[in-house]
Amino acid sequence: MNTVESNTEELYRKYILENYAKAPLTILKGDGLTVWDDSGRPYLDFTSGIAVTTLGHCHPRWLQKITGQAAELAHCSNLFRNANQALLAEKLVQRAGPGKVFFCNSGTEANETLIKLARLHGCEQSGADGKKFKILAAGNAFHGRTMGSLAATPSEKFQNRLHPMLEGFAFGEINNIQSFSDLVDEDTAAILIEPIQGESGILSCSDDFLRELRNLCDERGLLLLLDEVQCGVGRTGSFFAYEHAGIHPDAIAMAKGLGGGFPIGAVWVAESLAHLFTPGSHGCTFGGSPLACAAALAVLEVMEDEDLLGQVTEQSKPWLAALRKLAGKFPGLIKEVRGRGYLVALAFHDDPTPFIIEFRNEGLLTVGAGYQAVRLLPPLTATSEELQRSVDILEKVLEAAGTSTSNT
Ligand code: PLP
Repeated sequence: MNTVESNTEELYRKYILENYAKAPLTILKGDGLTVWDDSGRPYLDFTSGIAVTTLGHCHPRWLQKITGQAAELAHCSNLFRNANQALLAEKLVQRAGPGKVFFCNSGTEANETLIKLARLHGCEQSGADGKKFKILAAGNAFHGRTMGSLAATPSEKFQNRLHPMLEGFAFGEINNIQSFSDLVDEDTAAILIEPIQGESGILSCSDDFLRELRNLCDERGLLLLLDEVQCGVGRTGSFFAYEHAGIHPDAIAMAKGLGGGFPIGAVWVAESLAHLFTPGSHGCTFGGSPLACAAALAVLEVMEDEDLLGQVTEQSKPWLAALRKLAGKFPGLIKEVRGRGYLVALAFHDDPTPFIIEFRNEGLLTVGAGYQAVRLLPPLTATSEELQRSVDILEKVLEAAGTSTSNT
């Protein structure tokens, strides 16, 4: 085992670009909520590969579906139809409402599609000169790393040394409708927003704010484009996070949890806008392959058959209550618990990196996020016993840090 570890470490050092700050851990195997490192040590995986492994690792039905499909046909390109793409699109339309779907491979590609949709819409509204192309997004947003999505991600942390950015973006503040309405002018085509900002540390748009955005878009002829890449596909206990606000967007970007560990991105576009994508206007070689769609179909089928949304809604209540109780016990360390369902963050007062390391040392994998937060992202299949184990490990580490109500 150690040979594998040292070899992998060495190969990484030699051959992998160092654009990620990695934990010193090589993961060999996963099953459900557990992963094992190369020394055979198990960990409770509360990262889900950053909100990806919706069914946990190697769910038998997911595995059966993708291995079966791989043996039949993995890829055929969008030169031809494939049955899985059609079935998956139908399922997503059933979730989002009347409309049509485009498939790609990742969250950032899904958001590029939303940006193109805004421009196509703007062109239709303002004539072929395409003057109406401005997109309003949120400060603290994270929409991805490709140059369009990056331009919608107003942080020097991500944009540093990559300027100039694509033009046509302006930024408001979440939960401050005035800051958005002040930015709308005759060039504005759309508002792009995450209902819950993930990378920024689980900062939620209030239901009222989402409704206000919908009204603003209706009044000013703008598209409401939702980035559900992290908060969608069941993570909050409803299929899409925006459903809690009872609104209807014009388009939705999805990725991460949709394939349960197999790369896939998707964009749902409302029926009234579907005509904007004409042959040749957009494309993706790998998008919607039989294999990727098989993985997503397995995720959606298990989600339905096992009522995972109901389970997340029910089980997250006592879990969040326990986390809030824990935070109350360590007010000197933890400022608050944020989030909904299984999209949760502990917001620390200071840099939580040493805690992330200690949680890992105690067998719990978590993931950092902006604003000094530690994200807890269990798969939707997590049992209440596994959720409780996360609380026990967090408590053990926080206790050991020696700061509690008594000494703050
Ligand atoms: N949008 C949101 C809300 C995300 O959280 C992410 C990734 O963290 C992305 C877009 C980019 O997705 P990907 O890394 O699949 O390109």
